[in-house]
Amino acid sequence: MTECGCNGDSEKMILIYACSGAANVAEIADRAARKIAGGGCATMFCLAGLGAGIPGMIQTARDADMNVLIDGCDLDCAKRIFERAGVSHYRQIKVTDYGIAKGGEPVTDEQVQVIVDKAEEALAAK
Ligand code: SF4
Repeated sequence: MTECGCNGDSEKMILIYACSGAANVAEIADRAARKIAGGGCATMFCLAGLGAGIPGMIQTARDADMNVLIDGCDLDCAKRIFERAGVSHYRQIKVTDYGIAKGGEPVTDEQVQVIVDKAEEALAAK
């Protein structure tokens, strides 16, 4: 378990999702979400379940105190899934907003940490 930097409130149900697509920026989103979940700041939840319209999973997102979405790029797949599911209380972080280009470059630990830090800022602001 990594150290948690979000000043988390264990009484709240905080869920984190990553777009987890094929692109490098999606890998960064996925790795960052897993790192945050490993630190205990949030519970990672399956975005694909919401995309598939599984009622119980959509309800879980509705019931959460906060949903944090990490999208890789401007196509905003996670955000769009939330909008289609009618779940409006979320905060979105986008990897390409932080100087990381979508492309074929290998993902680095430093890039993942940039997004972990941004997501933890969002969590700390809850
Ligand atoms: S948001 Fe961008 S990187 Fe993520 S799954 Fe969608 S297209 Fe791929």
